[in-house]
Amino acid sequence: MKKYAKLIRDIPDFPKPGIVFKDITTLIKNGKAFQEVIDIFYKKIKNKKIDLVLAIESRGFIFGGALANKLKVGFVPVRKPGKLPWAVEQESYSLEYGQDTLQIHQDAVKKGQKVLIVDDLLATGGTLQATCRLVEKLGGKVAGILVLIELSFLKGKDKLSNYDFFSLIKYDSE
Ligand code: AMP
Repeated sequence: MKKYAKLIRDIPDFPKPGIVFKDITTLIKNGKAFQEVIDIFYKKIKNKKIDLVLAIESRGFIFGGALANKLKVGFVPVRKPGKLPWAVEQESYSLEYGQDTLQIHQDAVKKGQKVLIVDDLLATGGTLQATCRLVEKLGGKVAGILVLIELSFLKGKDKLSNYDFFSLIKYDSE
């Protein structure tokens, strides 16, 4: 959606050379745009039976938290290692250079619960794929995935073909 894409700021070479960082702070500081985005997400999934919204540190929390509240369901954080205070389940995944790990509390999702996953951006898909695995390890079911931005030229969606996926803004090139 062009209207919202205009509110996202491109920061070249952040956090490292060659990456064009999509800065969403310029969108969320606009109260009307932020509310509209949450409304669009809400309308997309309001007819699904969802027990929990789960989001990924840290920008995912902004959208996931607001959406969980609107849906009147609970919120579960998925975090980088060492941040969650209780017993965790974890998943590691490959990055372009090296590995990354995500953690979730072992009791965050009950067997059979339907979980909606929210993040700010889909790039290569490793983050969301690992998050789906975390949900499934705990016995939950991924009811859908919502992201604000999809960098479609990186083909991250191919890793998520088993899931119901929606992105609001697509970039076909950098
Ligand atoms: P990936 O695992 O490659 O799909 O990367 C997705 C995660 O990395 C998301 O949680 C994003 O917040 C972050 N990310 C990756 N690329 C960018 C980018 N160009 N701009 C902003 N965030 C990014």
